[in-house]
Amino acid sequence: MINSSLRKLSAALAARKISATELATLFLDRIEKLNPGLNAYITLDRAKTLAQAQAADASGKVGAQDTPLAGIPLAHKDIFCTKGWRTSCGSRMLENFVAPYDAHVVEKLAAAGMVTLGKLNMDEFAMGSSNESSYFGPVKNPWDTARVPGGSSGGSAAAIAARLAPVATGTDTGGSIRQPAALCGLTGLKPTYGVVSRYGMIAFASSLDQAGPMAKSAEDCALLLNAMAGFDPRDSTSLERPAEDYARDLEQPLAGLRIGLPKEFFGAGMDADVRAVVDAALAEYRRLGATTVEVSLPNSGLSVPAYYVIAPAEASSNLSRFDGVRYGYRAPEYGDLNDMYSKSRAQGFGAEVKRRILIGTYVLSHGYYDAYYLKAQKIRRLIAADFQRAFENCDVIMGPTSPSVAFAFGAKSADPVQMYLSDIYTISTNLAGLPGMSLPCGFGAHDMPVGLQIIGSWFGEAKMLQAAHQYQKVTDWHTRMPENLK
Ligand code: GLN
Repeated sequence: MINSSLRKLSAALAARKISATELATLFLDRIEKLNPGLNAYITLDRAKTLAQAQAADASGKVGAQDTPLAGIPLAHKDIFCTKGWRTSCGSRMLENFVAPYDAHVVEKLAAAGMVTLGKLNMDEFAMGSSNESSYFGPVKNPWDTARVPGGSSGGSAAAIAARLAPVATGTDTGGSIRQPAALCGLTGLKPTYGVVSRYGMIAFASSLDQAGPMAKSAEDCALLLNAMAGFDPRDSTSLERPAEDYARDLEQPLAGLRIGLPKEFFGAGMDADVRAVVDAALAEYRRLGATTVEVSLPNSGLSVPAYYVIAPAEASSNLSRFDGVRYGYRAPEYGDLNDMYSKSRAQGFGAEVKRRILIGTYVLSHGYYDAYYLKAQKIRRLIAADFQRAFENCDVIMGPTSPSVAFAFGAKSADPVQMYLSDIYTISTNLAGLPGMSLPCGFGAHDMPVGLQIIGSWFGEAKMLQAAHQYQKVTDWHTRMPENLK
C-alpha cells in the first residue's frame, strides 16, 4: 500500500479492500515509527486526521467518478494555512500560530475528499535550498540521513521518499518543489504562474510563488494538480481559464516531440555524475521518438542575481506584517513600541530571513532602486523573452534540475552564494512564470538520486506531464525507495 500510485489507492478504496480510516492509520503508524529520524513532519494530530478519514468513509465520495482522490491521505507543506492546525512556515515567528482558515489549495484538496496527515517541515518562510534554515531543525534526506533533502519543500520531499505520505503539496519560488524532488528521487511540478491560487499560502515573493504537487510519479502529479488548480477570486493573480484535465495526454506517444537543450545548462557548473545520468535520460527520450535540438537562453546566467534582488525585495515587504502586534511572536520584554517591533523581529526571525529583509530593503531604497530593483526587473523581462524565442524551436526544454546530488549538512551553509547557486537551473522559470518539473532519472555520486528537469511553455503542464509519464513507463527510477526504509 505504501508504494501504491494514486490510481491504485483509489481502486483499493473503491473496491473496499481498505477504508480511508485504515489507510490513514497505516501512514500515521509509519510516521510515528520513522519521522523521529527524519524530521519531515512538524505537526501531527492523529485525532484530526482520523476524524477526516472517517468523514471521507461516510461521505459517499470514496469510489465516486468525480472524486477519484477521496479517502487518500496527503500532507501539506507548513506554508499553507490549515484551519485548526498550527501553521508555522518553519519559523519561530509563527511557532504557535493556528490558522483561522484554510488556504485555497487546502480547501480544494479537502473538497476532493483527501485526508490531511499533518504539516511538513520547510526552510523558514521558504527561504533556502537545504532545509537547514527551519526553526524546527533540518529534515534528513531518507536516502542518506547525513545529507540534505533540498529545500525549501524538504519536508514534503522526505515524507514522500520515505513513504510517510503518498503525495504532498509544495511551493516553488525559485526551485523549492523541483530541487528537493530531484534530491530525494521524486516527481514534482511547479505550474505556470497563476494556475494555482496563492490564497492562504504564506507569501515569500508574491510574483514568483506558486504551489504545486509533489509525488512519486508524473501521473500522480497530474491527478493532484487537477484537484489543486483553478480560478480563485481571492488571489488577484489567479487566472480565470477553463478547467483542464492535466492527465489527458499522459498516454500519447512521444514521437515527434522536440526537446530543446539550452547550451547554457550543459556547460561548466554541472557535476560530471549528474551530467552522465541526464545524458542517459536524454538518450532514452530519443529512443522514445523525441528529437533534441540545441537552444540558447543567453541571459540565464543573470537569473540568480536578478532573483536575489527581486525575491528579497518582495519578501521584505511581505514580511513587514510580522511585527509582534497582530499575530505571531512577541518579545517578552521591551521598552517602547519601536523596541517591541525590533525585539520581536530580531528574536522571531532566523538569520537567512533577516539577510533577505536587509537585502530587500536596501535594493528598494530610494538611492538604489534604479541600480538594483529596476535593473533586475529588466533582466527578468529579457529572461522571459529568451524562453519565448527558444520555444519557437522546441516543445519542451530539458536539462538538469540541480547541479549536484544532495550535499552533506553544513556543506554550503557558511556561504550563502554557494547555497543560492543550488537553484541555478530552476530560478529562470519562476522569473518567466513558466511551468517546470523534475523527475528522477538515475543515481549519481554516493548513490544519490538525480533529477531531470522539464520546462514547458506557458500552460504546457499537460505536455510536460506526458513527456515525464512516457519516460516513467519505460524506466523504474520513480519506483525506487531507500532500502533501509522498506
Ligand atoms: N532556494 C531559493 C531561495 O532560497 C528558492 C526557494 C523557494 O523556491 N521557495 O529563495
